[in-house]
This record gives sequence, C-alpha cells and structure tokens, in this order.
Amino acid sequence: MLENLSESRAVQKTEITETFDVTVSGGGMVGMTLGLALAKAGLDVAVIDAQSPDLTTAPTFDGRVSALAYSSCRLFEQLGVWHRLAPNAQPINDILVSDGRVRRGAAPFFLHFDHREIGNAPLGHLVENRHIRSALFAEAASEARLTFVAPGRVLRATPDAQRTTLTVDTDCAMAATLCVAAEGRVSTLRDQAGLKTIGWRYAQTGIVATVAHERPHDGIAQEYFLPSGPFAMLPMTGNRSSLVWTERAAAAPAFLALDDASFDHEVARRFGGFLGVTKVTGPRWSYPLSLHLARSYIAPRLALVGDTAADERIELEALLSDEIVGIAKPGLLRKTKGKVKPETLSAHTLLVRESRSSTQQVADRALRAAGVEPARVWELDSSEAIKRAAREGLGIAFVSLYAVAEEVERGELECFRLAGHPRIERRFHIARLVRRSPSPSERGFMATVTRCAKGAHHAAASVG
Ligand SMILES: Cc1cc2nc3c(=O)[nH]c(=O)nc-3n(C[C@H](O)[C@H](O)[C@H](O)COP(=O)(O)OP(=O)(O)OC[C@H]3O[C@@H](n4cnc5c(N)ncnc54)[C@H](O)[C@@H]3O)c2cc1C
Repeated sequence: MLENLSESRAVQKTEITETFDVTVSGGGMVGMTLGLALAKAGLDVAVIDAQSPDLTTAPTFDGRVSALAYSSCRLFEQLGVWHRLAPNAQPINDILVSDGRVRRGAAPFFLHFDHREIGNAPLGHLVENRHIRSALFAEAASEARLTFVAPGRVLRATPDAQRTTLTVDTDCAMAATLCVAAEGRVSTLRDQAGLKTIGWRYAQTGIVATVAHERPHDGIAQEYFLPSGPFAMLPMTGNRSSLVWTERAAAAPAFLALDDASFDHEVARRFGGFLGVTKVTGPRWSYPLSLHLARSYIAPRLALVGDTAADERIELEALLSDEIVGIAKPGLLRKTKGKVKPETLSAHTLLVRESRSSTQQVADRALRAAGVEPARVWELDSSEAIKRAAREGLGIAFVSLYAVAEEVERGELECFRLAGHPRIERRFHIARLVRRSPSPSERGFMATVTRCAKGAHHAAASVG
C-alpha cells in the first residue's frame, strides 16, 4: 500500500504549484487523521510530511502505544481506518491505579475502573503508534481527494488575501485556502507566524519499551504511582505490555544504559511478579516530558492542531494564596508575636521533603535568602512524617499552612514566621478551558478547596 501511495499519489519533485482546499503540514497521527477527514468530507487536501512513511512505520521508529478512547475509535470507524487497526488493537477492560515505593512495594489501596460497570464495551483500545500510522497511510492511499507528499519538508507559508502558498523543500509549491500546521511540538509554521507558546519542563523522562510476560494481562492497564512518577504497564496484543516508566530526568540515563538483565530486574522490582517473568523485548526509547501550549491557535490562513497546538486554550484563574510557615513542637522556639529570628533556627534540625517537592523549593529559596543554615537536614518522604517528627520535637520544618491547620488548632504544633523577612507565599490557580462553564466535579473541587482554605485562615490567625 505504501509503495502504491508513494509511486502513484505523491507529488513529484518537478511539480510546481498545485492548488488545494487545505494543505496540512505534518502527516503524523493528527495531521493524517485530519487530512483524511477533510478529504472524505469532499475537500481537496494535500498532506506533507518531512519523513518517509517507510521510516515512520518501522518497528524501530517509535516504541509508543496510544490509548484510544471510545470517541477516537468511533472517529477511526467513520474514516474507514478502524478495520485496518482492529487486528492490532488490544481492548482495555480494566484500569488499576495504585501507589507505592520501589523497596516497600504497593500500598494496600487501589482504584479499580471496571468496564462492566459501564456496559459491555471496553474502556478503550491500545494500539502501537506504528500500526496507527500504517492504517492511516493505507486509507489515505485509497482516498482520491488526498495527496500525500513524503518526504517533503514545508519551509514556509506565505498568506495573501485569497490563499496561502507553501514552499516545500522538494522544489514544489502548493496553494490552498487554508494551511493547517500539524507539525508536532517543534513547528516551523507556528514559529514563522509568530504564535508564541508557554510551557515548562517536568524534569522527568518517559522510558518506553515493550515487555513480554509469562501470564496474560487480561486487558488490565496498570498505573503504579512511584515517587519519581507513574510506572505504567499497558496491555498490548498477546502476552505483551507497553512499559511507560516516568523517571527523574537526572536518573533516567543510568537506567537506560543498564544491560538487558539489569534493566529487566529494575522493571520487575517496580512491577512485581503477577504477570510472571517479565522481559523487555526490542529497543528502549526515552521522551523528555514537558508541557507546552500555544497562546493562540490561529494566524491569517493558518490553524494549529495536535501537538503543535497542544491543547485547547487554557485560562488561569487565581484561586487562593498559600502561606508556607515554620512548624515546631509547642514551646521549642522562642517567638515574638509569632516570629522567630532566622539565626536561632540554625541550631535546629531542618525536616525537609524531597527536593522535587514544590513546597520545599519555595521554602528553600526563602531560607537561603534569610541566611538560615541548619545544623542538620533530615529528608522525610511525606508531609505526615514531617509533621509527626516535628510534633515529637525532632526538628523544625516549613510546610503549607493548609497542611497543618488541624494540628495547629489542636495545639499539637506551633506555627511561626521569619522575623525581618517577608511571608513565604505562593499562589494557586485553577486552569480551565476558555469559555467553558465549570463541570459539577470542578464546582465540587472548588468548593472543597475553598472550605479547606477557610480552615487554614483560621489557623493563620493563631500564628500572630
Ligand atoms: C510516552 C508517551 C506516551 C503517550 N501516550 C499517549 C496516549 O496513550 N494517547 C494519546 O492520545 N497520546 C499519547 N501521547 C501523546 C501523543 O503521542 C502525541 O500527542 C501525538 O503523537 C502528537 O501527534 P502529532 O501528529 O500532533 O505530532 P507528531 O506525531 O510529532 O507528528 C508531527 C509530524 O509532522 C512532521 N513535520 C514536522 N515539521 C514539518 C515540516 N516543517 N514539514 C513537513 N512535515 C513536518 C513530522 O515529520 C511528523 O511526522 C503520548 C506521548 C508520549 C511521549
């Protein structure tokens, strides 16, 4: 099919200026799906991708699988793609979500999403990305209104009053009423149009590999939350699962560099033995994790979709501010009007959370600015452990006022601020899709947060 596609339907290098209704720069999963949908709706479409389909459908190109929700499966059905995907689609019957630690294992409680609770259909399907691309390309080859150009890199889009002209590095130029950029995260056309993005890195890496196992997974997707991030085993066809192991970015290269036996051992340590012996097959991939959102999705004769846009437009609404306060066993510190001189703190043990904790990062900056150099630092792995140690008088800590409101009210802990320094504060925002009214669960969440905030304000009054 792909040969047929590249021989008969691809624009040849010598062809200059063809006119379409829509051109789509980027023929990944999103661009090609959109191209097919527009063509099937009766528009003349060109999809241009910088990489050859032979490359992007090879087993070595992309180890990822995609969880296709019910609506995505229905979209593929409508586009005539599903029947090509079905043999390679693994139904997701159940989802188990748990948390724990590598050495101690999983906590006794977990969330269970059972497909039988919502009817007989699976919760979704897992399909290897390469199979999704193959199915899309195969369907595109049979779609007369769709022209696929690959490999061909779009260099620029030049809009005028009637159309926009794409210049492609294969010496061809194509005009269309509208151009859609579906170029993934790094987008030439988005940048050229001056559409800015906002985002940040998560300091986490997604390690991806395929794992073969002794016992069947029964269509159960496992999400196991570890301190470094979620460790997911997603069911694939046969006795195979897709591993998506989120690890601290600093630690990931060492895991990726392990020999096969040691890597298998690390996977088994985290996952446990309920699928029997597990063995990674094929290559390991890694993806740095980050968030990015385009500030606007449109420019003259240009629209962004997929990872180029990244999400619907999001607005941030200030929800409440949180104060980070010092806590100590009552009577441990000498306070004046709820304040303690920073230099007196250096004699105490500082109880801290892991350095990735955002509360800890805010507190660390403030303590550095105040010149506090504690005698000892103890890292504990939960806020509960920190509060308990502080209650026992083992040290002092800086925590969110919301986290200690009840203990302060019960007189088990005292809060304090740093004398001569500003309050340590941070703001919480709620991120919501622009122009969408809040859902019942969002309203419930806001009400709960506001209720907790009131409790904390009460506690704040006792600080001084
Ligand atoms: C570990 C991991 C797991 C994930 N799991 C899921 C999941 O389960 N479900 C889910 O929905 N999503 C998942 N995602 C996200 C999903 O993979 C991406 O959102 C999706 O691949 C984005 O598709 P896209 O077509 O927008 O971009 P891409 O897949 O990046 O495709 C962009 C295409 O544009 C081409 N291109 C770029 N620039 C040009 C140019 N100038 N000219 C021509 N062509 C160009 C590229 O060659 C490429 O083929 C996961 C991501 C990661 C990292």
